[in-house]
Amino acid sequence: MDLRFTDEELAFRDEVRNFMRTKLPEKTRKKIIEGRHLDKDDYVTWQRILNAKGWAVPNWPVQWGGQDWTPVQQYIWLDEMQQAPAPSPLPFNVSMVGPVIAQFGDDAQKKKFLPRIANLDDWWCQGFSEPGSGSDLASLKTSARRDGDHYVVNGQKTWTTTAQYADWIFCLVRTDPAAKKQSGISFLLIDMKTPGITVRPIVTIDGGREVNEVFFDDLRVPLENLVGQENKGWDCAKFLLGNERSGIARVGMSKERIRRLRELAALERAGDRPLIEDERFCAKVAAVEVELKALEMTQLRVVAAERNRKGNKPDPASSILKIKGSEIQQTIAELLLEVVGPYALPYQPEYLEDERRNEPPIGPDWAPSLAPSYFNMRKVSIYGGTNEIQKNIIAKAILGL
Ligand SMILES: Cc1cc2nc3c(=O)[nH]c(=O)nc-3n(C[C@H](O)[C@H](O)[C@H](O)COP(=O)(O)OP(=O)(O)OC[C@H]3O[C@@H](n4cnc5c(N)ncnc54)[C@H](O)[C@@H]3O)c2cc1C
Repeated sequence: MDLRFTDEELAFRDEVRNFMRTKLPEKTRKKIIEGRHLDKDDYVTWQRILNAKGWAVPNWPVQWGGQDWTPVQQYIWLDEMQQAPAPSPLPFNVSMVGPVIAQFGDDAQKKKFLPRIANLDDWWCQGFSEPGSGSDLASLKTSARRDGDHYVVNGQKTWTTTAQYADWIFCLVRTDPAAKKQSGISFLLIDMKTPGITVRPIVTIDGGREVNEVFFDDLRVPLENLVGQENKGWDCAKFLLGNERSGIARVGMSKERIRRLRELAALERAGDRPLIEDERFCAKVAAVEVELKALEMTQLRVVAAERNRKGNKPDPASSILKIKGSEIQQTIAELLLEVVGPYALPYQPEYLEDERRNEPPIGPDWAPSLAPSYFNMRKVSIYGGTNEIQKNIIAKAILGL
């Protein structure tokens, strides 16, 4: 298998790299480098810049704004964006609900939603997990009962990322309580302004407010908001979760974090010389760089194999990418913490008033936010399917156990 880029692919990479360097707002780039939380405006502004170029939804059908790119071009686009470092387009819009509507939705739904999803005119969140139904998603209990031309929805979702910003939520709901687990589930689009919705923040260990509980109390949702057939929502969910896993190795992001790690280690001292010259520290950095190179090669092999894959079924090898990608991101976050030591501790929690959040950081300006980032990184081996669940997939689908 030849993993080298062709001349055309190298030219495409240069074009993407140049775009990311010149069009990404500097304040957003700086926040990512420093490990700070991004605001809604950072995501919206950047996604609209991408959309104006035609690069916000390259994975969609061309008719709805997608690019007819090869898997290698898609890989280059994502890798360069992560290395810039730029925010990825909102995954709930671009990798999840958009492709589901394009694949399973009717014409009216496509026309109404897809252009707004691509331009982030509507911010979407994902209402899948419930208390007691995470890994075992098909046990979900939120119910949707038909009443005339509406569904009446009752139940609770949890861990709903950025529900506080959301205009819409896409949900898995139980429409046939008598059917076998997966069979009685439907995929429903719900306007967050519908009376009966309550959003309650969950403050995470980094002091952040990115996840929420969402309660549904006798919501009335028009039948026209059902995507695909009633009780066939599990097909949409499988399709969506396959998309969610394929971009999750975050190789570009880890490359950027290692660059930052080296930069900071050149500023910090170990005895009478910069930390970056300390042999034991260098050995740790080299070890994670080797792991990352191996992950990149594996990702390129998966990308190359994608050319020959038929249908929409995700490659089970993407579970390997998810596990190794998460482990590497967590190791780098640990090393960053080691470099800045006690300076990592002071930070402005996200839930402070806006004016205080914008105060200059306490301590050297290269150190803040690294402790919160370290704690925040614990999430990457949980969301999108925990590492244990990924191992189950590898055991069954790759090893045939
Ligand atoms: C930061 C963050 C953001 C999230 N955002 C969203 C979101 O926007 N929308 C949404 O719907 N969900 C979201 N989630 C939820 C996420 O998908 C679930 O947390 C995840 O699927 C795990 O489910 P759970 O938390 O219920 O844990 P459980 O499923 O209860 O698992 C608990 C532990 O048991 C292990 N375990 C469970 N089953 C097995 C098994 N069969 N074999 C071996 N081990 C097993 C797990 O690996 C884990 O260690 C988010 C989660 C996090 C952490």
